[in-house]
Amino acid sequence: MKLERVIQYAQTLLTQTVSAGDIVVDATAGNGHDTAFLADLVGEEGRVYAFDVQQQAIDSTTKRLVDAGVADRCEVILDGHENVAKYVLSDVQAAIFNLGYLPGAEHSIVTKPSTTVMAIESLVQKLNIGGMIVLVIYHGHEGGKEERDRVIEYVSSLPQKSIHVLRYEFINQKNDPPFIIALEKVKALPIEK
Ligand code: SAM
Repeated sequence: MKLERVIQYAQTLLTQTVSAGDIVVDATAGNGHDTAFLADLVGEEGRVYAFDVQQQAIDSTTKRLVDAGVADRCEVILDGHENVAKYVLSDVQAAIFNLGYLPGAEHSIVTKPSTTVMAIESLVQKLNIGGMIVLVIYHGHEGGKEERDRVIEYVSSLPQKSIHVLRYEFINQKNDPPFIIALEKVKALPIEK
């Protein structure tokens, strides 16, 4: 057995979770790599909702999906993932986030602690039992550590009987390597009083 690298492991988790016909979310479309990967997993009958706040990312993702012949099953949305509930009305089987900035673009446009946590909160509510949210946390950039800490604080507070929270990380790599947090819903959330 080999330890999978972080990106590879994120894809393994999604592959194990998502089946043909599922509804899923790419919360940070960027250049569309994950959107295209999810589009393959859900097949013709499924649906992928992809969000980004940059027109450049929307264009790049749309082009990748068209080139791959999977655009018809995807909705690429120019809006923040914190508004996911406005666009995705059904429950979802999986969601992926790649936190940080779009490689090759303006480094000042990055995911932010409060909106990232709002989006995770919304998606935790919408997640099917057996569904998963995969967060790939890049934290080397300015503001990255604050976001990482806010996300960890939030996910650590989730009820353990409903959500299993995993951290997958190589702890001897230098220069702030990315790591994964995966949230698996195993039981309905307790009703808030
Ligand atoms: N998964 C992408 C790919 O395959 O290329 C890379 C994503 S990149 C690390 C992070 C992306 O999140 C950037 O494109 C950025 O514009 C986007 N972003 C920043 N804030 C956002 C928000 N509130 N909602 C959705 N996307 C956001």
